[in-house]
Amino acid sequence: MTSSLLYGFKRIALGLALALGFCAQPLAKEQLNFVVIFTDDQGYGDMSCNGHPTIHTPHLDRMAHEGQKWTQFYSSAPVCTPSRAALMTGRLPVRSGMASSKRVVLFPDSAGGLPQSEITVAEVLKGVGYNTAMVGKWHMGHLPRHLPTTQGFDSYYGIPYSNDMDRDPSVKGNWVTIGKTSPWSIYKVPLLQNEKEIERPVNQNTITRRYTQQAVKFINENKEKPFFLYLAHSMPHIPLYASKKFEGKSLNGIYGDVIEEIDWSVGEVLNTLRKQKLDKKTIVLFTSDNGPWEVFKTHGGSAGLLRGAKGGTREGGMREPAIFWGPGNVKSGVVQELGSTLDVLPTFASLAGAKSPDDRAIDGYDLSDVLLNHGKSPRKGMFYFGGAQLSAVRSGNYKAQFREENGINPKPLAKPELYHLGEDPSEKYDLAAEHPEIVERLAKLGEELKATVKPVPDQLVPRIAD
Ligand code: MG
Repeated sequence: MTSSLLYGFKRIALGLALALGFCAQPLAKEQLNFVVIFTDDQGYGDMSCNGHPTIHTPHLDRMAHEGQKWTQFYSSAPVCTPSRAALMTGRLPVRSGMASSKRVVLFPDSAGGLPQSEITVAEVLKGVGYNTAMVGKWHMGHLPRHLPTTQGFDSYYGIPYSNDMDRDPSVKGNWVTIGKTSPWSIYKVPLLQNEKEIERPVNQNTITRRYTQQAVKFINENKEKPFFLYLAHSMPHIPLYASKKFEGKSLNGIYGDVIEEIDWSVGEVLNTLRKQKLDKKTIVLFTSDNGPWEVFKTHGGSAGLLRGAKGGTREGGMREPAIFWGPGNVKSGVVQELGSTLDVLPTFASLAGAKSPDDRAIDGYDLSDVLLNHGKSPRKGMFYFGGAQLSAVRSGNYKAQFREENGINPKPLAKPELYHLGEDPSEKYDLAAEHPEIVERLAKLGEELKATVKPVPDQLVPRIAD
């Protein structure tokens, strides 16, 4: 055998060994990028692919068609601050002190925020080499010690709390009317770049467009490295404003205009990924922090056929529009399995080859088998908190409601209610009298969960002036 032939055999053998994974150093699997597009107070019914008749969302519809649309995907709280804390940490917000029975969310006078001891999804991904950016509404503490740059994000561009806060105190009157009719200049909300204030009050007509530009810029600048982008729109939380291109254009009034601008923004992000040939290397999740703000009527959205709204623990308060997209990775279709924003950290960690924290209770599950293979979801239930009170428990198709649906300190109901969410997604027909044993089983699950929650300082109570 000639030496050149021998060399040829060696090369083939080495190639085979590499292909079969016999090499001493395993080949690094290409890391997927992750994008979370999070809207504020968008209802379950507020996209055309979820049946809305007068809001047109072609980009979300295409995203749903190419990706996975989830029909039973939950936030872990019916209001902003705790919901966001759960998304970041994979933990029920009562565990981090970000759910309170005394104050509903963080305000501009709040001194608290997501504790540094919490581990965020950005920190987990940074640990395996990701570049990270946050664009949009944070609402997990606005003092420098709580901003995104202290919680695993390399950069931040956005507003630190809700767009209806910091209202000019000289503007008096009914808050619903003010919220529906006033110019953005009465809300002295700052726009921050990292820790620095760059505009105040923030121009809310252009905010969705500017967030989008920042998101697109970050993707373009990070096409060579794995990245995590958290794009949290301030809209459609009231007060509602759209840019000139969208104002007055939808059939649904200003609420529809705002959603249609967000839909455009989703299109810009996905098109940038396609253009940079990152679409097959990226997983994008689109979802919302809580249900629609019903008290604002046409300025609040719609939970579709679900009962209840923002602030409540009926389905409409916490079940969200949700789409996972990732051509070539996420298997397309409609998913009726259970999922939650609590599952984002474990799922992304698993897909990135990172470890979820194992020194604390994690309430999320790894959904990667559902995303990649249409497998069964490991999530089989959901706990619904009103403030820091456990109000309802879902296990399989059954949901027991133990406390009032609304408020931060919901009182126990005179009698628990029971619904079959498969046959009765609108929670209309109480089955508690027929199935007391199921109510008892779900109550026990709730007690078992509560026993695992260690008391921690309430982050929503301390004020700067204290
Ligand atoms: Mg919200």
